[in-house]
Amino acid sequence: MSRSLTFKLTRAFLIVSITGAVLAMFLARWMMVQAFNQLVLDQTQTDFVTTVTVYYQTNGSWEGMLEYFRLRNTTPLPGALGQPQPIPRGQLPPPNAPGLQPNPRAFVFMLADPNGIVIIPIAPYRPGDVIPVTELAEGAPIEVDGQVVGVVVASGEPPALGERETSYLASTNRALIYAGAAAAAVALFLGVFLARSLARPLRELTAATRQIAKGALQQRVPVRSQDEMGELAAAFNQMSADLERANEIRRQMTADIAHDLRTPLSVLGGYIEAMQDGILPPTAERLATMHTEIQHLIRLVDDLRTLSLADAGELSLNLVSLSPADLFGRVRNVYQHTAEQQGVAIEIDAPASVPGVSLDPDRMTQVLGNLVSNALRYTPAGGRITLSAKAQGGGVALMVEDTGQGIPADMLPHIFDRFYRGDESRQQKDGESGLGLAIAKSIVEAHGGSIRADSAGAGKGSIFVITLPRANRT
Ligand code: ADP
Repeated sequence: MSRSLTFKLTRAFLIVSITGAVLAMFLARWMMVQAFNQLVLDQTQTDFVTTVTVYYQTNGSWEGMLEYFRLRNTTPLPGALGQPQPIPRGQLPPPNAPGLQPNPRAFVFMLADPNGIVIIPIAPYRPGDVIPVTELAEGAPIEVDGQVVGVVVASGEPPALGERETSYLASTNRALIYAGAAAAAVALFLGVFLARSLARPLRELTAATRQIAKGALQQRVPVRSQDEMGELAAAFNQMSADLERANEIRRQMTADIAHDLRTPLSVLGGYIEAMQDGILPPTAERLATMHTEIQHLIRLVDDLRTLSLADAGELSLNLVSLSPADLFGRVRNVYQHTAEQQGVAIEIDAPASVPGVSLDPDRMTQVLGNLVSNALRYTPAGGRITLSAKAQGGGVALMVEDTGQGIPADMLPHIFDRFYRGDESRQQKDGESGLGLAIAKSIVEAHGGSIRADSAGAGKGSIFVITLPRANRT
């Protein structure tokens, strides 16, 4: 638990909320104390000035001021400093009377006469000291009847806060602590909720990934949201489906390879056993049949090797720039004779204006040869195979079109699959492997191109279109 996402997120939320609450508390308190200090300072100064002014007005001089001030500020007068009243000197209580407290708020201002001689002192001055002119200049003058009779100088120290201010501050502090605790509780709740909603899909993904690692590929996790978590779950499902499909293809392919190897091998094995037992004499005709089977095996192994090289991206290409007309010429040379025997015409339509293509001539002859041999296989006598080329977009399109039996629409999406044969029974007759178009696709894609097939339906012929990028040098 201590390392779980839920714990970490909740802890982070708590730390953030508590830090926020504590900072807000200190800041609010600091600002309040500042404001109170200023308020009390202003109030105290007004009181001080009023007290001394009234004293001067009443007595006509500063004589006895200090004594009066001390006594007044140790007397628990109901109005405190608010309503200064001149008290005849003889009626003041003695300064050491029991129960009297000096009011600390009163002693933050100093009174001096216009010459700077201290009347009511604050540290470090004592009565009778002379304060420097600079300090005197900063003070506030006290005027009576238009005459400056004294100067009030502030000590710079804020006066102590009163009981009411202190208790107000304390209750505000308590309120802030409650608010902080509430924020922390909300953060805790949110943290747990958020962490759970994050951790749940992650746990599901982890469990599904473990299952995949064990070989159970058909894993799906619920997509619970539209956010990044949901995207991750959807991507995982896609990956799992792709893996499952790839695994199925691999399994099917292994079965197909085994099947395709088995047929010629059992023919060869049967012949050899019969010859060894003297049942069948090794005639030239039988040896030729055996040779054909061996050729078929070699072709199959070569095809598989080409496919595995292409899959690994290791199909080496000797790229040269070649015009489509030259390429088509090569292919026609190979199949011209067979076509004539079948009564099928091979035509080329590749204008010189079509740009050259960067390709491996042997590999691309193999691709086109495969398409032409398929076309020959499915085109009856009197038919026509057309090899044409045209510029298309930034590249070139090479087309092999026949007037043969066509490809049914339900077969079209599969013909480039490995070991796909439109008619399973043909293998025995013609030695078709069902790998021809798969190899053609791999080679075209290794050239950076693409291949597709189209057919208007049964009896309407087929067309194969290869799109290749244009050659860099022509
Ligand atoms: P195969 O080695 O069996 O010819 P291919 O991969 O070359 O394998 O072709 C796959 C299937 O596509 C063929 O079995 C056939 O059914 C169909 N096909 C390919 N070319 C043509 C064509 N020109 N006309 C009709 N069907 C075709």
